[in-house]
Amino acid sequence: MIATVDPTTGTVLKEFAAHTAEEVEQRIAAADAAYRALASTTFAQRAEWMCAAADILEAEVDEVASLITTEMGKTIGTARYETLKSATGMRHFADNAERYLAVEHPVDASSAGASSLSVRFDPIGVVLAVMPWNYPLWQTIRFAAPALMAGNTGLLKHASNVPQSALYLGELFERGGFPHGSFQTLLIEGSQVAPLLDDRRIRAATLTGSVAAGASVAEAAGRNVKKTVLELGGTDVFVVLPSADVARAAEFGVNARVQNSGQSCIASKRYYVHTDVYDEFSESFVLRMGATVAGDPRDPDTTFGPLATERGRRDVIELVQDAVDKGATVLTGGAMPDGAGWFYPATVLSGVTPEMRIYREECFGPVACLYRVDDLDEAIERANDSDFGLSSSVWTNDDDEVARLEREIVAGGVFVNGLTASFPGVPFGGVKDSGYGRELSSNGIREFVNAKTVWRA
Ligand code: NDP
Repeated sequence: MIATVDPTTGTVLKEFAAHTAEEVEQRIAAADAAYRALASTTFAQRAEWMCAAADILEAEVDEVASLITTEMGKTIGTARYETLKSATGMRHFADNAERYLAVEHPVDASSAGASSLSVRFDPIGVVLAVMPWNYPLWQTIRFAAPALMAGNTGLLKHASNVPQSALYLGELFERGGFPHGSFQTLLIEGSQVAPLLDDRRIRAATLTGSVAAGASVAEAAGRNVKKTVLELGGTDVFVVLPSADVARAAEFGVNARVQNSGQSCIASKRYYVHTDVYDEFSESFVLRMGATVAGDPRDPDTTFGPLATERGRRDVIELVQDAVDKGATVLTGGAMPDGAGWFYPATVLSGVTPEMRIYREECFGPVACLYRVDDLDEAIERANDSDFGLSSSVWTNDDDEVARLEREIVAGGVFVNGLTASFPGVPFGGVKDSGYGRELSSNGIREFVNAKTVWRA
């Protein structure tokens, strides 16, 4: 079902019919035609349109934030933040795309037997973007802004539970001035995505979501010799060592886990705390987790809202139940609240062992697993004992430890004495089952371009 369902009540607010095959075809044709138009425009022209679209987004922040909160339940404050961050991201690529994609002269031309030698970065065409509901705007913008600035066009297949956010995004860039067809929404189910990769007009795909969805899209793209970028899940670590400011780590550790109701790929999920500071950290962290309020996302006193979907909450409940059945201890939370809506409290588990599903699987809800480690070696070894490798947050004031952590943690990021976050100018992405390729920064914009060598005798 493609529908807006209020996560605070479970009420279906608005249903949408999926686009017909004919409507999908019209959109692909429009995207292909727009690519031909866009590819011959200048960076300056595209930057003007991008900034105009960012202006619109900023002017409509209240309506857009309200829509996000209605569709997926994050607090209104964080929805506003996401909207404004998206506008900032758009301006970043408006301001920097030309520099990121400037023609390069990698070696002396004579070394390649040429009188002149350069590399240019041309757009490749229509890119299909499969996006998730957890940051309905930002996840989309961080693909769309660099892609459009590079001269590509985009087709957005958004998650089925955020159709109104998807339709808004499907109009935003045209409202800013981009040619018709530059960025459009396809209202289709996930199962309808893979066959689209057979269409020769679609040149590449990017997906943010689960490993299963990513593998399915990459498989279809691979059959068609098309590039993909995958930004999948994570079970990021939060490592606390004795030299850290433990009180601060405990305070930030809460937000690291409960941000977005715990539904963030880069949320910290596994907490490895050195035995010397374990009790101090644990006491403060558990207390603070227990003091959070899961409630009405429009109430300013709420820490975080409901989970976005009924199935998402069921997954979290099952992971916690499995751990408890196998001997884990619930230090706070863990009990499903009465009443309507898909609320779930901040929860801390200890005594988690490899037999428990939550030891390896991503828990997309506000549930932290707390582990005691004896030393740095054990912290690093256990951090890397994961199928995922998205990012990490490490807390220490010892430079030698930082040097080892940044080198030895197998992940797309190491954030020292702070939480993992995404910034427009900084690469974002993971290794192992967390995916491949990078979003944002010069790395992100170069994922969907043709690095074309121009050699002249
Ligand atoms: P999904 O991966 O199912 O959904 C993400 C996007 O992929 C949606 O647009 C979805 O469309 C689409 N999709 C789903 N299946 C396919 C498919 N076979 N081929 C192509 N596209 C597909 O995530 P869920 O929302 O179901 O969440 C499940 C788990 O995934 C979470 O618990 C979490 O672990 C992980 N996840 C990670 C995210 C991240 O930020 N890295 C974001 C969301 C989820 P549709 O909605 O129509 O199914």
